[in-house]
Order: sequence, then C-alpha cells, then structure tokens
Amino acid sequence: MKAEIIAVGTEILLGDILNTNAQYLSKELAQLGIEVYFQTVVGDNPKRLHDTIFQAFSRADLIITTGGLGPTEDDLTKETAAEYFGEELVLDERALGHIEKFFARIGRTMTKNNIKQAMVPKEHGIVLYNDNGTAPGIIMEKDSKMIAMLPGPPKETIPMFENQVKPYLLQKQECTFVSEILRVASIGESAMETMVKDLIDAQTNPTIAPYAKNGESILRITAKAKTTEEAQALILPVKAALKERLGNAVYAEGETDMQSVVAELLLKQKKTIAIAESCTGGMITSRLVEYPGISNVLLEGCITYSNEAKMHRLGVKAETLEKYTAVSEQTAAEMAEGVAKTSGADVGIATTGIAGPDGGTEEHPVGVVYIGIYIHGKTTVSKYQYTGKRNKIRERATMNAMNLLREALQNEA
Ligand code: ATP
Ligand code: MG
Repeated sequence: MKAEIIAVGTEILLGDILNTNAQYLSKELAQLGIEVYFQTVVGDNPKRLHDTIFQAFSRADLIITTGGLGPTEDDLTKETAAEYFGEELVLDERALGHIEKFFARIGRTMTKNNIKQAMVPKEHGIVLYNDNGTAPGIIMEKDSKMIAMLPGPPKETIPMFENQVKPYLLQKQECTFVSEILRVASIGESAMETMVKDLIDAQTNPTIAPYAKNGESILRITAKAKTTEEAQALILPVKAALKERLGNAVYAEGETDMQSVVAELLLKQKKTIAIAESCTGGMITSRLVEYPGISNVLLEGCITYSNEAKMHRLGVKAETLEKYTAVSEQTAAEMAEGVAKTSGADVGIATTGIAGPDGGTEEHPVGVVYIGIYIHGKTTVSKYQYTGKRNKIRERATMNAMNLLREALQNEA
C-alpha cells in the first residue's frame, strides 16, 4: 500500500504551527509497513486543496489528511474527497448528537455551522466519532482507493488514528505487527549501522531500523505476520544474530534505559556508589537519581570543577594536577578513588574532560574525556575523544560512564 499524508491548514504554511501530525502519522504508517511517498501541506484554499487531493490519488492508494474538518466555509477536506469519490454528503444524526453533547459538556451552545461537521458520505464512508472534539473523522473507500480524514488538533488526531484508523488498516492488511527493541551503548548510530548493515540489507520481514536517541543507539526489529506468535518467531533469529554481532554493547532490550540497568546492578550487588563529576557537571548523578530507590546505593555526587575542589573534596594531589593537568588519566583515577574513599562508597566514578568550545590544546583537544572507575580497590581509566557541541559531548560522556560502570559491575558478578 502506497500512502500520502496531506496536512490542510494555512497556519502551517505561515509557519504559525508545526506539522507534528505528519511526523506522527509517518512514523505510525512506517510501523504498519505502509510506505509513505509524499507529505504535503496545503492551505485552506478550495482549488489548491482539490488539486492536491486529486494529484495524490493519481499516485497513492491511501491518503491520510488532517485538518480542514471544521465548521467554517473554508474547511473543505470532506467536500473535496466526496467530489473525488462522486459521493453525496448527508446528515448523520448520530454525529450531530455527538457534536451537541460535546457542546453541552463544555457549556457552550452549538452554532448552526456545526451541522456541516455532521455531514457524512451517503454510501462509501465510515464515520469516526470524535471523543475529544466536535469534527468526526471520515474514512471513504472505493475501488481500492482510500482516504482517512482526521481533525487537525493533535489531541483529536492521535487518539482517532490510534483507536479507529490503525485497527482498520491492520484488519485490511489481515496482519499484525510486533516490534522489539535492542539498546546499544558505546557505539554510535552510524558505526552500529555499519556493523550490522549486511543483516539490515538481507532482511525484509522482519525489518531492522537503527536510530539514535538520548546518547544511545537503538535497533528496532519489526515483523509482520498473521499472528503475534508468528511475528515473534520471525524476530527471534534476527535478534539473536544482531546480539551476537554487537556483543556486550547490547545493554538491554525493550523499554528501559541505562540508568535503570546500572541502578538495578548496584542494588542487586548491594554496592554503594559515589560520583565525582567535572565536565559532565552532575549529569551522571542526575540520570541515576531518575531511578526510584537509588537512595539505597547512591551516597554522594559532587561536581568538582576547579582544581581546588578536586584537591580539597577528593584528595587529588597537587603534584598530579601540576604534572598531568586536570584533564588527564592520572587526575581521573585520583578523582574516582578519592570520591569513593572519602564518602565510604564501594564504587567511585569520575569524569574530567574538555567539553568545549574553548579550552582545547594540542595534547588535549576539545572533546577529550577521561572516565575513571574505582571498584574493589582497583581503578581503571578510559579515554574518549568525542566530536560535536558541548552538551552532546557531555551527554555522550555520561552515557559512556554509565556503560563502563555497567560493564565493571557485570564483570564483578
Ligand atoms: P477545528 O474543528 O478545530 O477547526 P480542523 O479539523 O478544521 O479542526 P484545523 O482548523 O485545520 O483543524 O486546525 C485546528 C488546530 O489544530 C490548529 O489551530 C492547530 O493548533 C492544530 N493543527 C492543525 N493541523 C495540524 C498539524 N498538521 N500538526 C499539528 N497541529 C495541527
Ligand atoms: Mg478548522
């Protein structure tokens, strides 16, 4: 099935609002295995709307529109589609009752204009009643061409698509979709894609889609089948192949995050932790604090930015700072050990680096970050060289620090 999305509304063309409906619908259709070939925005103009819809039907099987279902003269999406299908619009009493009730609920009286919204196709239409607004949506279908018209406000569009259009499309395709997610740390999205490119290219069902989110890389495996069990069975070997390829970089599956994985390891192993952050400026601590129950293991997080703080709070030696500077393997090691020992924690973790845009030197260019981990009397330091803007560097260092901690804890177990 080839699909197009048409957003109707002059507001979008003027840049007053962002076309978030198109993004939402494209994502949803992709997950349904329906290919979207065009996204169009057209103003509330009868001729241009007419041309847009007719042109879209010349190349697509399915059109999804949002907006232009309102009560005013220039809301013409429904009328134009009816013209394409040669349909007559008639009053739907149930839709009218729905609109009347909606107005009663918000304590306003319905205007005569609103009757227009209750007009539906006489023959080849399905009315999508709107629980969150007045305009009902409409599906019109004839001779393997189909249009689903949804209201413009996202709080109406999204539930209507989710609850009424999506089930209809699934049933049409006589199949179901199952998606599973692999979460990958310490490998960037494009590097990850390169590592598994042959697997991605070899697959059509399930499909493998890589993407990046909040400093981590994600692989979404989506299978299409008659039943959920069949889809899961299709996913299984592909998931195994991906996990074998990526090894321990796959830190979790499904809806979770790195801080939860790390927090759960700490809690399970009953290990306390203290964190000393320079360039990450509290990000690691903040991420761990997102996990409810972390108070059982998190003793302290300090932001030791200056050399003085590193010396006085953590016990980093003046000679170390002088000889190797604050951004060095030696300083990271003393920070990690220092924060653990001074707070009495089992595990210490430390970051020191240059987040930029200034402050880089030849020896320590912008983006260099040292991450120290102290665990069971042993300290290891890893050096990273990141590119990108200040906050990206900090985010990636935070993710890598938590990932190193995960690996260290897993090695302990
Ligand atoms: P209404 O009955 O509210 O007039 P409608 O179906 O005619 O609904 P529009 O008038 O086109 O929809 O848009 C109503 C509001 O919905 C807009 O002011 C905007 O806030 C939001 N909206 C419309 N289209 C989009 C879109 N493509 N993406 C995000 N928001 C949108
Ligand atoms: Mg409107």
